Amino acid sequence: MKINKNMDLTLLSGLKIGGSAENVYYPENKKEMIELIAKFGVDAVIIGGGTNTLFSSGVHKKPFIVTAALNEIRSLGNSLYLESGVSTAYAVDTALRSGLKGMECLWGIPGTIGGAIRGNASIGSDSLFSHLKELSLIGLDGGEYQMDKFTPEYRDSGIKDVIFSAEFELENWSESVSAAVIEDLKEIRAAQPKGISCGSVFKNPEGKTAGYLIDKAGFKGRSWGGLTVSKEHANWFIRTGDAVFEDFENGVSEIRKEVLALFDIELELEIKVYYA
Ligand SMILES: Cc1cc2nc3c(=O)[nH]c(=O)nc-3n(C[C@H](O)[C@H](O)[C@H](O)COP(=O)(O)OP(=O)(O)OC[C@H]3O[C@@H](n4cnc5c(N)ncnc54)[C@H](O)[C@@H]3O)c2cc1C
Repeated sequence: MKINKNMDLTLLSGLKIGGSAENVYYPENKKEMIELIAKFGVDAVIIGGGTNTLFSSGVHKKPFIVTAALNEIRSLGNSLYLESGVSTAYAVDTALRSGLKGMECLWGIPGTIGGAIRGNASIGSDSLFSHLKELSLIGLDGGEYQMDKFTPEYRDSGIKDVIFSAEFELENWSESVSAAVIEDLKEIRAAQPKGISCGSVFKNPEGKTAGYLIDKAGFKGRSWGGLTVSKEHANWFIRTGDAVFEDFENGVSEIRKEVLALFDIELELEIKVYYA
């Protein structure tokens, strides 16, 4: 197993922000993952693609475990087995090429299958969980178990343990239907901001979108150091310079304060933040 010492965490974060980590592990199979989780338990920081994750400045002493080398993918009939480090792009592509419906709700979302399941990621109205048959999980004591009943909520699977792999049961669909769905998704994507970002910063509160509230509070185009609120989508921060973690904290705290004062709504972070 590869282990990186004193690793620059900007390399693991989509927004390229963060200090360093003393130890970063890259398990290559279930046995190695179980050993790491049994050893480190709740202290372990699990990282997929790092596209929805931010790290504070300073030296992180907690062990980081990156799933990048857990990338086995198998398809048999309508069933698709994916280890958690498989990229969402590859999973979607594999399903589409096999004429299977069910993974396209991840179309254009960067990151890994583990991160997508953990955060119930999706584009459009379909959910990954409608097609999820079984998860192989590792509890924080290192115990392995399977799960086949799920109660996902908006941007939260409710799963606290480590996702090792997932098996999906997909449906057949015709090429013409899949092409039409992908065209719709392309339109949604085309409207999203360009540049280095971490996607949505805040979750949408009940009945509103965070982007609308931040826009109405006058933040579109506002910058803190190297981070700027996108003019196209106010819930996205774009890296426009040498951004540091403090820029993110300043932006988040100012936006939260103003949205609370104007609309009496407390915005909750969608992006996951880890402190040294
Ligand atoms: C340009 C852009 C567009 C985006 N569009 C969308 C969108 O349309 N819809 C959407 O929902 N999101 C979107 N996102 C956000 C992000 O890509 C998704 O949330 C993605 O699913 C995160 O996956 P990841 O592997 O990068 O997770 P990471 O950022 O690595 O991790 C996110 C969380 O999941 C946990 N995690 C990761 N792997 C595992 C595992 N194997 N077991 C247990 N926990 C794990 C981590 O500990 C962390 O808490 C977008 C981001 C960008 C940059």
